[in-house]
Amino acid sequence: MQVIVDDKSGFCFGVKKAIELSEAELNKNSSLYCLGDIVHNEEEVDRLQKLGLKVIDREEFFSLRNATVLIRAHGEPPSTYNYAKKNKLTLIEGTCPVVLKLQQRMKKKYEELGDKGNIVIFGKAQHPEVIGLNGQVDNKAKIVQDKSDLDDIDFSKPVVLFSQTTMNRDRYHVLKAELEKRLKTPELLEAYDTICGQMANRAPWLKEFSKTVDAIVFVGGKKSSNSKVLYGHCKDTNPNSYFVSSVSESENLELSEFDKVGVCGATSTPQWLMENVADSIRRRYT
Ligand code: SF4
Repeated sequence: MQVIVDDKSGFCFGVKKAIELSEAELNKNSSLYCLGDIVHNEEEVDRLQKLGLKVIDREEFFSLRNATVLIRAHGEPPSTYNYAKKNKLTLIEGTCPVVLKLQQRMKKKYEELGDKGNIVIFGKAQHPEVIGLNGQVDNKAKIVQDKSDLDDIDFSKPVVLFSQTTMNRDRYHVLKAELEKRLKTPELLEAYDTICGQMANRAPWLKEFSKTVDAIVFVGGKKSSNSKVLYGHCKDTNPNSYFVSSVSESENLELSEFDKVGVCGATSTPQWLMENVADSIRRRYT
């Protein structure tokens, strides 16, 4: 059996940077807080926790004093930075440069627009990146996911549309077309497709990769919605696709009928985990 690890799978550069920052800090100090899961992958979080990383929620963050906290790739609203300043917290800036740029663009647009228009975010209201983005505009953005969320927008005023970086591009275009339709003239819409290429290009690539092998072993976190979506694309293209979260789960798979097995994962899947899964399959079948 041939076992191939997809070299385009694994962490995007934003997540990679945040993890490298945490490792560098944990090399110098034995403990570091991280506000929220650094990545939606239990195995990677577990590895970093063993090095001293402590994952905390917002409530715990807002009771900390004199500590060092990593801001993960999703970014944070200004209130997080204000609290840190007042309470002598040292922040390690792990916000992905793509997200940081988007935050700055939204802030600038909001300052220009004031209350003369609507800022709309195509995204999930509870997603940490969206919480960080909305914070840039004093939490005044309308957060929408589909047509039914558009009803309380004031269509007599211009609309500026941004997207959470990890949303689906086809759905973005449907929403954009609907906004154009509801406005008096389409010129009243300023739309920015701010979906990240690292995410958007992953699905078409995985479909191609899935065609080149007899079976797919997709490695992803149980809590990662992106993993589920990408796995779905693999499964649609190659029905012999299996989802696993760990090496031990991959050991339950029966793969003996396949000659060529591809191992791949999401943007939150560590490379080392895919390699370990591949090694385990090789040990059993080659
Ligand atoms: S998916 Fe894109 S925007 Fe999000 S963390 Fe990765 S590189 Fe940054």
